Amino acid sequence: MTDLVPTLDSPGLHVVKPFSHVAATGSYICGCGDAATANGDADVWALVQDYAYFHGQAHTGEGR
Ligand SMILES: [Zn+2]
Repeated sequence: MTDLVPTLDSPGLHVVKPFSHVAATGSYICGCGDAATANGDADVWALVQDYAYFHGQAHTGEGR
C-alpha cells in the first residue's frame, strides 16, 4: 500500500484527473521542503513543469 498523497516522508508529485471533463488537481512535496498545490488543468500542468524542472530529480539529476 502506498499513500497517494505525497508527504515529506514520501516526497513526490501527485496529479488527479478522474475524468477528461473534470478539472485536474495536483500537488507535490519535494525533498527540499517545497510544496505546492494546483487546481485546474492549466495550473496543474504548470505545477508539473515546475516540479520537473526545479524539484524531484532536478536536485540530484545530471546537469543541474
Ligand atoms: Zn525541491
